[in-house]
Amino acid sequence: MSTPQRTLTGATLDVDHSDPVYRAWLKEAVRRVQADANRSADTHLLLFPLPERWGIDLYLKDESTHPTGSLKHRLARSLFLYGLCNGWIRPGRPVIEASSGSTAVSEAYFAKLIGVPFIAVMPRTTSAEKCRLIEFHGGRCHFVDDPRTMYEASAALAAETGGHYMDQFTYAERATDWRGNNNIAESIFRQLRRERFPEPAWIVATAGTGGTSATLARYVHYMQHDTRICVADPENSCFFQGWTTADPDVACDSASRIEGIGRPRMEPSFVPGAIDRMMKVPDAASVAAVRALEAVIGRKAGGSTGTGLWSALKLVAEMVAEGRRGSVVTLLCDPGDRYLDKYYSDAWLAAQGLDIAPYTEAIDSLLRTGVWPGGKPSREPAVQ
Ligand SMILES: *Cc1c(COP(=O)(O)O)cnc(C)c1O
Repeated sequence: MSTPQRTLTGATLDVDHSDPVYRAWLKEAVRRVQADANRSADTHLLLFPLPERWGIDLYLKDESTHPTGSLKHRLARSLFLYGLCNGWIRPGRPVIEASSGSTAVSEAYFAKLIGVPFIAVMPRTTSAEKCRLIEFHGGRCHFVDDPRTMYEASAALAAETGGHYMDQFTYAERATDWRGNNNIAESIFRQLRRERFPEPAWIVATAGTGGTSATLARYVHYMQHDTRICVADPENSCFFQGWTTADPDVACDSASRIEGIGRPRMEPSFVPGAIDRMMKVPDAASVAAVRALEAVIGRKAGGSTGTGLWSALKLVAEMVAEGRRGSVVTLLCDPGDRYLDKYYSDAWLAAQGLDIAPYTEAIDSLLRTGVWPGGKPSREPAVQ
């Protein structure tokens, strides 16, 4: 068919599907993306040691070892395959994304792999290091003054250039194969097979697009597992409020300090009905947890890993209190060396007015005694 068509993302589809040159290009592009997956090893499931007498095993799925260093490698691969197979990504036309972070880095990598230009639309305040990584992978950074205009600016740029606006915040949940195909959930369950508690009581995720939590939850339901999915939400994010009030229109003004997660609106890709529980996590608790991670397993990670770990430790404390044995899995989302001047900097903490001491103490006390000190830390809302 050669008539121009409108795609869902608004670009004009002006490629002739019967053109053998396009078909050969498409085949080769899909092959290259699939070959990247085929060359990649699975990511590790690391053990976070807990006192033996509790009978509880805590794991971190280490997503920092993907070729582009974060769990966004999985998302970018899925979005590229989805866009290619839908006929949305075309030879010589740019792929455009609204992202100030890891997604743009991973997408720049895949764009280069299949030989199309990549443009990241990001707030002017984005760190130079982020832009450097995108440019390292051959992408270009397009800055906007008002972060709220990122989405429209991306769509406009796609229309202007005849490119494709990838739109992670809409398509993350549907681009991923939630039934299997070695998605993150299937990989976790396979790696747990020889553990003493192969079906975890809880899997904890954090939400940026919401895609990871949707994949985990759908897979668990599809496979009829008893595992429950908990999503940890940082300050300055409206997912928790949207989930508790079932209001898809909640919004908040300020930006999340925990990079990669927390959004000012209920993103279409977040699937609240699929998950079992949410926790609101203070930013200081996220930082305390990610520093505790280094003390316990000798690895630095990004802030979102701390947000998830804090929630996972609370779930462990609940299980200890109930005398329940079992396993809990959370995610190591990206490496900490990207954030040395942030979550690992006391000067940054001071400038942000964050005091992590009470939360560090809470974690130490839990790991010593199995008891969450003084009940719930005071800044968390009662509904959890
Ligand atoms: C995107 C991201 C997440 C959350 O994953 P989603 O699937 O988008 O919800 C967590 N941590 C980091 C560092 C991320 O970049």
